[in-house]
Amino acid sequence: MSAVIIDGVAIARKVRTEISERAQKLLAQYKVVPGLAVIIVGNDPASAVYVRNKARACAEVGINSDVMRFDATVTEAELIAQIEKLNANPAVHGILVQLPLPPTISVRRILETIAVEKDVDGFHLYNVGGLVIGDTVFPPCTPYGVQKILEHENISVEGKNVTVVGASNIVGKPMALMLMQKEATVAVCHVKTRNLAEYTILADILVVAAGKPNLIVPQMVKTGAVVIDVGINRLPDGRLCGDVEFEGVSKKASHITPVPGGVGPMTVTMLLDNTVGAAERAAKLRGPA
Ligand code: NAP
Repeated sequence: MSAVIIDGVAIARKVRTEISERAQKLLAQYKVVPGLAVIIVGNDPASAVYVRNKARACAEVGINSDVMRFDATVTEAELIAQIEKLNANPAVHGILVQLPLPPTISVRRILETIAVEKDVDGFHLYNVGGLVIGDTVFPPCTPYGVQKILEHENISVEGKNVTVVGASNIVGKPMALMLMQKEATVAVCHVKTRNLAEYTILADILVVAAGKPNLIVPQMVKTGAVVIDVGINRLPDGRLCGDVEFEGVSKKASHITPVPGGVGPMTVTMLLDNTVGAAERAAKLRGPA
């Protein structure tokens, strides 16, 4: 068996076209241009690349983005004051604080300051809680991107055995909750899981987000499984790879996402989707121009 290699770049392109059409409609009907404010603190090179990519993607679909840069010496009070200003600014529909933040700053306090209706990353406790009862305002972008990929490939999750490897607050846990909402039977694995393979081999759909190259090898995968590799790892020779041993597993799976070119392009795409969604909600509340 040779798996269908899911083309995340092509799916992202299609979804971005739809997002761009929604942005044009907002402008025509409500004279509203969706706005995203991005706060970045310090000079972490990976964060700088992510923020640059997000700003470029915004411009492509008709979202105004404003990147605000702060020195690593910025205080928590200064950041909170900045977020409160953005909360009150009607031209800003989404606010994103690029993580990580310096250790002197409480990530939780910063994220809780973002107005719930502008929390396009979906990390505010209100949005996290919404996931539990299936009433999320903003689904977190990476698991939301995985959900879109599955929908696009016509892969139903209802009644399926799904194993999620990784239990972080930004990927694994929200992914598991979103899949439960769609009536999958979900197992969530983490570092302390005894015999990971016992869980992965059961999976009709295997979602891996551990940040460990080659964690998943063919013997751990059921024949015909759908394998979604969220991991992004930089190898010593500079190449990027996921958490799944792609060559071997792609001979056993029915579908597989490559790294790069699988889940990655969808994460930024779902940020655009959430930002336009926030602008649509704000415009409808205000009424036509
Ligand atoms: P994280 O916060 O480091 O969490 C990793 C999770 O994997 C933790 O729950 C950890 O368990 C678990 N884990 C680690 N080693 C494991 C092992 N050997 N067996 C079972 N579970 C293991 O990372 P994250 O932010 O969720 O990101 C995960 C990966 O996805 C990273 O490679 C990251 O770069 C990538 N990522 C990709 C995108 C994208 O757009 N494609 C977006 C976000 C993240 P414990 O909880 O027990 O520590």
